[in-house]
Amino acid sequence: MMTFEGLGIDARLIQATDELGYVNPTAIQEQAIPILLSGTQDFIGLAQTGTGKTAAFGLPLLHIIDAAAKYPQALVVCPTRELCMQIVKEIELFKKYMSGISVVAVYGGASIGLQIRDLKRGVQIVVATPGRLIDLIERKAINLEQIKYVVLDEADEMLNMGFQDDIEFILKNTPKRESTWLFSATMPAEIRKVSKKYMKDPKEIIVGKVNTANKNIDHQYYVTTAQHRYETLKRIIDFNPGIYGIIFTRTKLDAQEISERLTREGYDIDALHGDLTQGQRDKVMGQFRDRTLQLLIATDVAARGIDVQGITHVINFELPDDVEIYTHRSGRTGRAGMQGICISIVHAKEMYKFKQIERINNSQFHKMDIPSGKDVCRKQFFSFMDKLLSTDISHGDYETYVPMLAEKFADVSKEDVLKRVAAMEFDRFLKYYENSQDLNVRERDKSVREPRGQEMGRTRERSMQGIDGGRGDARNQYARGGRESSGGGSGYSRLFVNLGTKDGFFKASFLQFVLDMSDLKKEVLGKIDMKDMNSWIEIEKGAAQQMIRSLDGKKYKGRSIRMNDADSGGPAGFSGDRSRRPRRGE
Ligand code: AMP
Repeated sequence: MMTFEGLGIDARLIQATDELGYVNPTAIQEQAIPILLSGTQDFIGLAQTGTGKTAAFGLPLLHIIDAAAKYPQALVVCPTRELCMQIVKEIELFKKYMSGISVVAVYGGASIGLQIRDLKRGVQIVVATPGRLIDLIERKAINLEQIKYVVLDEADEMLNMGFQDDIEFILKNTPKRESTWLFSATMPAEIRKVSKKYMKDPKEIIVGKVNTANKNIDHQYYVTTAQHRYETLKRIIDFNPGIYGIIFTRTKLDAQEISERLTREGYDIDALHGDLTQGQRDKVMGQFRDRTLQLLIATDVAARGIDVQGITHVINFELPDDVEIYTHRSGRTGRAGMQGICISIVHAKEMYKFKQIERINNSQFHKMDIPSGKDVCRKQFFSFMDKLLSTDISHGDYETYVPMLAEKFADVSKEDVLKRVAAMEFDRFLKYYENSQDLNVRERDKSVREPRGQEMGRTRERSMQGIDGGRGDARNQYARGGRESSGGGSGYSRLFVNLGTKDGFFKASFLQFVLDMSDLKKEVLGKIDMKDMNSWIEIEKGAAQQMIRSLDGKKYKGRSIRMNDADSGGPAGFSGDRSRRPRRGE
């Protein structure tokens, strides 16, 4: 078993870790410390919180800092104020037997004056959140000129919160940086990009499994039709009386319109989008933070950097196109060890996109039933009654009035009192939901495509076979030469579609997309030939029309899909085989 002595760190640090009860280094410490002690090697450590990563960078930092030089030499950047304080606390414990080294925490939401005073004391290690650090740089209260070591802790979280520009600014403005140490639980593409741009041959260490999902988030989705999206959103909000959440829309206009509509209907909500002035934005954020606003509706850009504790729900009014954006959004909840729920309102036709997100996000998404009007009323009713029962009545001078009340209510039963209270509170609510319709898109509905989510791995494998030649028949025809399968006598049509790899499709996702849209089984497909802008799909003649009907004229990422029989030369929908038009639902 490796020991801290064996790692070569200063005896005074070992004395401190001994006292803390650290017997052996953890895996990340064992691998990181020898590398980091050099002070000149860039480093990437993929490790979760709880693996001992604070000591993995804290101990070597203390070992290599020059205690005699009284200026900032090391900068630790981390996403939240809580983490900032925790890191400083641990470093303080580690340096218990070292004198002349001081460490300071600078983060938003606390007096900047006091932090500036602390910085002036000649600290060597600064632990900061990105926003406050930039603020201090702009006020010239901190000088990064002499910083030798930059540690980015929970880098993925920082990027999730929209601090990418700030991180890059910090890396660009530390000219004497001798090494950069990056710690992250996951390795999204954005972090790769940052590391490529600003780090030199980083040594990469992975501890445990690099997971891409935050296990504290329950991912749920509701399938409805496009025209019921708004109504579904309302049901979800109403079904969660204690909700404290952020709703994401794709456009400013949507954010604005939904916010206005919900406000008119009595909800505590406001919108955050790019058209607001800084003052307006601060006001909305302030109200949301102190919970005067229960709901915030935001575009992705406007929600950058939001770090609000205790968000219970994130709702995707519409799915983002990008998996990374989904991750950014869902990351607003389930923070600091708390549980969170990320809800997506999905249109049946978006299931293909959803499945991609599910797969890449590497977590299971749960399909939920959109609550009925009755469900909503029941939930609201009991929530109100719970509130009623838990109301604190110990402080007011209620005793003075009780005799009068008792007299007034002498002939009214307890049940009647409850009914009246409920009626006052819920009459409008009950009326609103009285004849409410079922918003779910049900399986029996022909247009529904249930996710084949649970079997993603398998589905994908099969899909790949379908495309890449697992279907021996279609492939063999090619092997025999010629394109007889398309439009000829082989029973296959060849369809043209104006979608290709430029639209972000890979073969598997493209196959899934056309199958989901058309509700056809993969067995009807032959070879798929994808180019940048267009693709050609071989499909059994009997199924060709259904596919054309399902895709032609529909939208993908705002662009109209054009699909037609590639060999007929005719317009979309004309396959040249009118005798075999599929029957409805075939
Ligand atoms: P961290 O991942 O840095 O948040 O550390 C998680 C917890 O593990 C902290 O409470 C540390 O004090 C503790 N810890 C770190 N390194 C060791 C070690 N080598 N032995 C025992 N506990 C440790």
